[in-house]
Amino acid sequence: MEKTSTSVWSKCLDVIKDNIPPQSYKTWFEPVKAVKLENNVLTIQVPSVFFYEWLEEHYVGILRKTVKKFLGEQGRLEYNIIVEKSSSKKPYTTNLPSNGNGAEGKRQSIPIPVSLNKDIKNPFVIPGLKKLQVDPQLNQQYTFDTFIEGECNRLARSAGYAVANKPGGTSFNPLMIYGNVGLGKTHLAQAIGNEVKKNLPDKLVIYVSCERFCQQFVDSLKNNTINDFVNFYQAMDVIIMDDVHNFAGKEKTQDIFFHVFNHLHQNNKQIVLTSDKAPKDLSGLEERLLSRFKWGLSADLQTPDLETRMAILKKKAYSDGIDLPEDVIEYVAKQIDNSVRELEGAMVSLLAQSTLNKKEIDLALAKSMLKNFVKNTHKEITMEHIQNLVCEYFEVPVEMVKSKVRKREIVQARQISMYLAKNLTKSSLKTIGNFFGGRDHSTVIYACQTVEDLIETDKKFKSYVQDIQKKLKMN
Ligand code: ADP
Ligand code: MG
Repeated sequence: MEKTSTSVWSKCLDVIKDNIPPQSYKTWFEPVKAVKLENNVLTIQVPSVFFYEWLEEHYVGILRKTVKKFLGEQGRLEYNIIVEKSSSKKPYTTNLPSNGNGAEGKRQSIPIPVSLNKDIKNPFVIPGLKKLQVDPQLNQQYTFDTFIEGECNRLARSAGYAVANKPGGTSFNPLMIYGNVGLGKTHLAQAIGNEVKKNLPDKLVIYVSCERFCQQFVDSLKNNTINDFVNFYQAMDVIIMDDVHNFAGKEKTQDIFFHVFNHLHQNNKQIVLTSDKAPKDLSGLEERLLSRFKWGLSADLQTPDLETRMAILKKKAYSDGIDLPEDVIEYVAKQIDNSVRELEGAMVSLLAQSTLNKKEIDLALAKSMLKNFVKNTHKEITMEHIQNLVCEYFEVPVEMVKSKVRKREIVQARQISMYLAKNLTKSSLKTIGNFFGGRDHSTVIYACQTVEDLIETDKKFKSYVQDIQKKLKMN
């Protein structure tokens, strides 16, 4: 039987199908058509440059083997890439010899002629739409105006501002903003997007969390719409991807993003990333992606100092139309020092308390509210915290524990408190002894010894201690 492009390709497909996962086959091989067979050169047609790159990167080995199997040592593969433009579909050919010269699996240089390359710069304009319109998915509240500047964020903020006014035109590409949760990464990243849209409304801006991107990728695999997915992101002028540490372990999505990243970067499009760690400390990410993350500028957000925290509170209060007395602002800012998000949370609770109980927001209200709030948010366990919880648990008054009273249940509460303080805080024996009624360090040692012995021998006692410990850690 005479060999035709279709017959050869279908034999190749049979082999390929047996060797790769069904989903991958469906995504990457079903859309491919054989179009020509001439002088042992099989030409296949793929829907986009991206598609071609993906095949060459991930399936070059199996493609080469199967083509040779059915066309002999001389067998070669060429790609015909459909360039989608809004008006016409113009196929063009890349002369891509899968001739086995390079190392197996190694990327071959892409012999796309320069003129054509220009032509296909943005092949992903959705047909029928003159200008692609995209909802940038930005929160309008997150602007530079509402982002308070402080020592803690100066570099990141000014780099962000520079990028926003010249997207793709600075050396801060990508701009990576990193820092702990609640310090303003999302706010700042979105401020960049909002600023671009304000000054350059025609720019295509998209904000996407890494998680959402991963989900979209999985969906597009399922629905066989990989091309649309990639095309969409590659058409952007500015992509803002939040929380890229969530890429960890998701190799396929990292691969796709790697392609999108390269495409955008090569075309001087702006990439903004946020992460909970500096690129060098990110784990679970492919080296080649990480190395690109390091290309531009990485700027961190640090915990704001007291002054900045107060400024943030003032600004929030002002924009919410609340009157916060100065002493309350200072008190709240002093108590909550680890995250801007918690600072805001405290303010919201304060407001809720005051409206609910029809009370003025004053220092007393702030104090009584923050007592619970801080207890809930601070992970660190203090001696005071231990003492209160133990006394509550055994229903004994705090003063008794601190006194010289030798009643059995008081002694027990006192000794357990000391034991927990020794194990759960960094306090020295001397400090612990002092705290629990001015005792010396040998009393603390004795207390700890007694509690340990009782835990060993008395099941009920052991369960008390465990219970208290659990409650302490829950707070
Ligand atoms: P992250 O993404 O780092 O976890 P977010 O950007 O979600 O943090 O910030 C948490 C909250 O704190 C948001 O409501 C944000 O508006 C606010 N915030 C953070 N930093 C600032 C700042 N410098 N000025 C004003 N608000 C801030
Ligand atoms: Mg965030």
